[in-house]
Amino acid sequence: MSDVVVIGGGQAGLAAGYFLRRAGLDFVILDDQKQPGGAWQHGWQSLRMFSPAQYSPLPGWPMPTQAGETFPTADHVVDYLQRYEERYELPVHRSVSVTSVRRENERWIVDTNAGSRKAAAVISATGTWQSPYLPYVPGQESFTGRQLHTVDYDSPELFAGQRVVVVGGGNSAAQILAEVSTVAETLWVTRRPPRFMPDDVDGRVLFDVATAREAACRSGRDHDGVTGLGDIVMVPPVREARDRGVLDPSPMFDRLTSTGVSWHDGREQQCDAIIWCTGFRPHLSHLSGLRLTRDHGHPVTDGTRSIDHSGLHLLGYGDWTGLASATIIGATRTAKPTVAEISARMTRA
Ligand code: FAD
Repeated sequence: MSDVVVIGGGQAGLAAGYFLRRAGLDFVILDDQKQPGGAWQHGWQSLRMFSPAQYSPLPGWPMPTQAGETFPTADHVVDYLQRYEERYELPVHRSVSVTSVRRENERWIVDTNAGSRKAAAVISATGTWQSPYLPYVPGQESFTGRQLHTVDYDSPELFAGQRVVVVGGGNSAAQILAEVSTVAETLWVTRRPPRFMPDDVDGRVLFDVATAREAACRSGRDHDGVTGLGDIVMVPPVREARDRGVLDPSPMFDRLTSTGVSWHDGREQQCDAIIWCTGFRPHLSHLSGLRLTRDHGHPVTDGTRSIDHSGLHLLGYGDWTGLASATIIGATRTAKPTVAEISARMTRA
């Protein structure tokens, strides 16, 4: 029996591990991957962070800068997470997949492909990468070209000489569009007009403005910050694509045909492939047996604590579990009070 089982060994799980160790609690981290790095090991080849290393600190040991790169590559982040895990000797058990979490006699039972574990508290930090979201568009089955999601995308070469529609208004879409447009004819489609960060600021401003916006909301004031966490950061390849004139969004199409996409005004665009950069949902199938109260498609939490169970916390995932909690700095900020809350409850018990 452990004090705490953490499910997921990405950045959020490691941030929790740091604070659990400092609190002197007995814990394990269970991760279904063979290697360290969480979702960062699965991104496309050129994936890079939208914020500089110094704005992406896990607790205790900040991310080192990467020589010659303002925006670290995914490999650099994976290396950092691996070294972080080793540095703090975090007890990560790999290739362990959690299948369900349940209550039994006031304890948590965490079922895995390698047996069951008991714990007094559970932190779920399983991220979103394994639950890609694809909106339904009429005619989707009739399209004879290739459709793929961000999770399936690797590099632009496969699209050389083709006509490609890229769907989505966030950083993934912008980064993928930027490189696919160097080898293919592209059309960029977004549901809302995308918002671009000014060239001379980078991802760090997102965090600053998000923080100011949250403080304003908490005190009932309006905040007219020009940026939000979904805004597109003008990393060098995206800026270069803008200068080539390819960052020119069209409104969302209404249906797919066998050979492309079409709008209700009769306009059509033929294409060979559609890349859906349409985001993710929290990956929470292991909690489905708990029948948690849900709102807006995710379990309802007070901070990171489930409103249904005082010993269950959800960490990472997005703003609903804490401001910018799907980012490294946000995960660090939310892991600390999460562990403090668990620790206080255990002391009381
Ligand atoms: P993950 O990294 O997904 O880790 C969860 C772990 O849990 C994984 O190893 C997973 O395999 C495992 N797992 C899942 N289910 C189970 C289960 N049932 N049992 C056991 N293990 C399980 N963030 C920043 O901070 N700064 C940036 O500049 C930045 N730039 C980005 C740029 C782009 C283009 C994109 C797409 C993302 C960027 N991010 C950035 C986002 C962010 O860092 C990721 O979303 C991050 O990987 C989330 O970390 P996590 O620990 O919550 O989840």
